[in-house]
Amino acid sequence: MENVIIVGTGCAGLTAAIYTARANLSPLVLEGRLPGGQLTTTTAVENFPGFPEGIDGPDLIQRMHAQAEKFGARFQFGTVEAFEPGTPHRLKIDGNWMETKSLIIASGASPRYLGIEGEKTLIGHGLTSCATCDGAFYRNVPVCVVGGGDSACEEATFLTRFASEVYLIHRRDSLRASKIMADRALANPKIKPLWNTVITSYITDTNGDVDGVRLKNLSDGTESDLALKCVFVAIGHEPNTAPFRASLATDENGYLVQTTGTRTNIDGVFAAGDVADHVYRQAITAAGQGCAAAIEAERWLADSE
Ligand code: NAP
Repeated sequence: MENVIIVGTGCAGLTAAIYTARANLSPLVLEGRLPGGQLTTTTAVENFPGFPEGIDGPDLIQRMHAQAEKFGARFQFGTVEAFEPGTPHRLKIDGNWMETKSLIIASGASPRYLGIEGEKTLIGHGLTSCATCDGAFYRNVPVCVVGGGDSACEEATFLTRFASEVYLIHRRDSLRASKIMADRALANPKIKPLWNTVITSYITDTNGDVDGVRLKNLSDGTESDLALKCVFVAIGHEPNTAPFRASLATDENGYLVQTTGTRTNIDGVFAAGDVADHVYRQAITAAGQGCAAAIEAERWLADSE
């Protein structure tokens, strides 16, 4: 029987691990399919407070990991397959059931990509899903954003601070985004919408970095090449909540719903970071929620004894 199991080793999970370990709860931390979470897919992180020179995403994660281990957090590789709430809560991990008094879910969200062959190898080489993280690396060069939702409009608008032009590539002829965000994006002279258009392949330079894209116009079937230095994919995120959806409240997009603070609708189960947050999605906000979840779990355990 565990005091607390933490699902996920991104910023939220590792911060929860540091705090629960320092509270002598000896947390068991599950490392899933992408140990370290989304930060491991980025290079320099320039907006995490305390690192004025910037820090590599994997390096930041490795430091948080070491910090949690130093205080007694235990790590285990494993993927949650099923969850049964109760006293205790039960988790099926790689075929084996485990029991825990409390649970912190910090399993994050996975950005959706286009599904083009070889795409995953380009992530961090001119292909990314995070303008806030990577936009500043593409100053005075053309870039594109793929998608037609609020994220795409927000990212495109943000990127105009750096890029020479921002192509907004959308598969239809109208945006899904809210009117205010769509209007703001379309009014920006640096944003050039390409309607009814999809990317069919990426063009790379001799270093293997993105140097352009091949486009297909869905209205007339014509194909063309567009030179640019980075593709920002903003076609939505998928919260990693599959094993929890049967018992925990989620919103219409599958994100876990927090009731008070990081509490979920099930007593003793807390949610932190991108698994419950589709608004901020930053390393620092995820870390903050991991801290809050740890404190709330600790207090919940003390009250339920
Ligand atoms: P979204 O609203 O689901 O939009 C995804 C966009 O990507 C859609 O335009 C969709 O095209 C396109 N798309 C999906 N799959 C594609 C594919 N395979 N190839 C090409 N295009 C594809 O996702 P989101 O923009 O990330 O927003 C998610 C939620 O967060 C929304 O509720 C949004 O309002 C919210 N959000 C709010 C803010 C804010 O208020 N500041 C900022 C960001 C997000 P179609 O239009 O053709 O379906």
